[in-house]
Amino acid sequence: MNSKHKLCMIPGPVEFHEDVLTSMSTLATSHVSPSFIPIFGEVIELLRKIFCTEKSQPFVVSGSGTLGWDMVASNLIESDEDVLVLNTGYFGDSFADCLQTYGVKVTQVKADIGDRPSLEEIRQALTTKKFKAITITHVDTSTGVLSDIKAISTLVQQISPETLVIVDGVCSVGSEEIRMDEWNIDIVLTASQKALGVPPGLCILIASERAMNVFHNRETPIKSYYASWRNWLPIMNSYESRKGMYFATPPVQLIFALHTSLKQIISRPLELRFQQHKEVSNRIKNSLEELGLKFVPKNREIAANGMTAVYYPEGVKATDLLPKLAEQGVVIAGGLHKVIGPKYFRVGHMGISVTEPERKHIDNTIEALKGNLKDLGCKGDN
Ligand SMILES: *Cc1c(COP(=O)(O)O)cnc(C)c1O
Repeated sequence: MNSKHKLCMIPGPVEFHEDVLTSMSTLATSHVSPSFIPIFGEVIELLRKIFCTEKSQPFVVSGSGTLGWDMVASNLIESDEDVLVLNTGYFGDSFADCLQTYGVKVTQVKADIGDRPSLEEIRQALTTKKFKAITITHVDTSTGVLSDIKAISTLVQQISPETLVIVDGVCSVGSEEIRMDEWNIDIVLTASQKALGVPPGLCILIASERAMNVFHNRETPIKSYYASWRNWLPIMNSYESRKGMYFATPPVQLIFALHTSLKQIISRPLELRFQQHKEVSNRIKNSLEELGLKFVPKNREIAANGMTAVYYPEGVKATDLLPKLAEQGVVIAGGLHKVIGPKYFRVGHMGISVTEPERKHIDNTIEALKGNLKDLGCKGDN
């Protein structure tokens, strides 16, 4: 690794494993080459394991996480249908915005900053009309708030069982537990560059059999060309049965990289991975709490395990902290939320930085944070 490399401790892109990067440097390879077809096929199979599902349909398409919203809006929801959006920050606003772009009628349950909608509020909202789908941002990267997708899905089964449960897992897949089949989740969408530890450029979405039936039985035309599953489903089926097929050129090198990363992830028990993310999250949060800092999530129970959002101490601004940390080789992120943006910072702790402690990414990050925050007047005893 380049000694001048600064650790990228933001909530995605995260640090990449050397073997993942090496996969990116595969020589020019046809997307229908016998050396690529089985790799893509295996990626599709591995994704089912990562999402704990037997029969759901994975889609792996060039783009970023945002394309997942367009896929949901254009393939599953028809114009004028109602969708309930649970909003825990910036990404809830954007998902709603995307749905509205396609003529979807959006109702939002918005939590106060740092909070999440209560089950009671969700229950009430679900009884007001018939919703085609409910969307949940599993971890809103702007606030670091973690939603309880299992409890929400259980509630939806009770109150409105036909409503599709759609999870934006861009900042949670690979760092938080997701059991698609067991929890009756219909869609999980994510991107390559967050906890899956692959360079940016892939949208990864997985749809339950029920969601695929809704798609097959839709009545109105799909209002997207590139995002249409009518175009992508035959491609996914074809590669899974180890045959090449063309719709739009897949990013061959990124798919090699994803294959490497998924193999690494699946080589160890997923439970261990999630446990490690919890432990590291606690270590980071404890260190910051000891310095007297306050988190954006209103309590630790609803805080994400793959990232931490923290308010600056009184009188400290982004420019006082972020450039100094970067100088010392640790890059963290500023705030993203529309209202509190300048008042807080975010640290990502996902992927190999967490699962391979011998790299000392977390130790170095905590040390740099502590040193700089103490210089800026934070308390602390050691
Ligand atoms: C990063 C992120 C997105 C957007 O993903 P891109 O890959 O940047 O398009 C959407 N939702 C959440 C929760 C995210 O963290």
